[in-house]
Amino acid sequence: MDIRTVGVVGAGQMGNGIAHVMALAGYEVRLNDVSAEALEKAMATIRRNLERQAGRGKIGEAEMEAALGRILPETALERIGACDLIIESATEREEIKQKIFDALLPHLADHTILTSNTSSISITRLASRTDRPEKFMGFHFMNPVPVMQLVELIRGIATDKATFDTCLGVVEKLGKTAASAEDFPAFIVNRILMPMINEAVYTLYEGVGNVRSIDRSMKLGANHPMGPLELADFIGLDTCLAIMNVLHDGLADTKYRPCPLLTKYVEAGWLGRKTGRGFYDYRGEEPVPTR
Ligand code: NAD
Repeated sequence: MDIRTVGVVGAGQMGNGIAHVMALAGYEVRLNDVSAEALEKAMATIRRNLERQAGRGKIGEAEMEAALGRILPETALERIGACDLIIESATEREEIKQKIFDALLPHLADHTILTSNTSSISITRLASRTDRPEKFMGFHFMNPVPVMQLVELIRGIATDKATFDTCLGVVEKLGKTAASAEDFPAFIVNRILMPMINEAVYTLYEGVGNVRSIDRSMKLGANHPMGPLELADFIGLDTCLAIMNVLHDGLADTKYRPCPLLTKYVEAGWLGRKTGRGFYDYRGEEPVPTR
């Protein structure tokens, strides 16, 4: 199937990145969010990130303007329905995603492929509540979307081959690389990454190290480009906690229990970079550890 229009629901840090790369690859993008403010912020972020790419000579000025012209901010969800491909990228809460799909269903074109950028929620379960489980799958980008090479493609139990192949074609047109994952909690990347981040928070909670020593240890001792706490702040602590809860509930194994300190940060609203404070405080010139 030929994809020309892409609807992105949720214009947060992932949604704006998805709109950015889709528009740059030539797709007509409709970007939606419940919050008009988030939508405005996303458009400004996309412009800034495209300008940065143009400034580095990675794209031309004309290419940048053309990409911006292909993104239509859209506050009415129903106007996203007729897109060829929809990527839901709203907050990582199943009831929110469920409501979005429920609201979209009456407005979809027959051929519309529905996907979710969820980091952990069951694709099969989300798909089963729509009218098209065979045209539903996981389309999981990595953060930051314009930079990261991988896209995990997740088949639900009913996803048909044509849908998978179409999504694979889109990933290739983006110049990215796909890895296919089975539909089990958190798929591949987060199944491995999140327990490591959670263990880093336990290491902090138990006083084995402080924020700086934990991050320094993993950067210099394991050659990770970012420390696990720095990375958690970058991902968003609410998203990290949500993924741990999905692993804990979905695999029923206590080894996935979320660290109480992670819960405490989320309850405080200290969600990492996006709220200005997490394991580091980003409100000054330099990030300062909060513990
Ligand atoms: P975010 O908090 O930055 O953005 C979420 C956006 O969804 C917000 O702008 C919010 O206003 C919007 N939203 C909430 N309810 C909505 C609704 N009913 N309709 C439309 N928009 C709505 O979160 P994010 O980091 O961009 O994560 C979005 C999705 O991407 C999640 O499913 C997350 O698991 C997944 N994801 C995140 C990362 C990451 O590193 N943060 C990586 C891969 C995938």
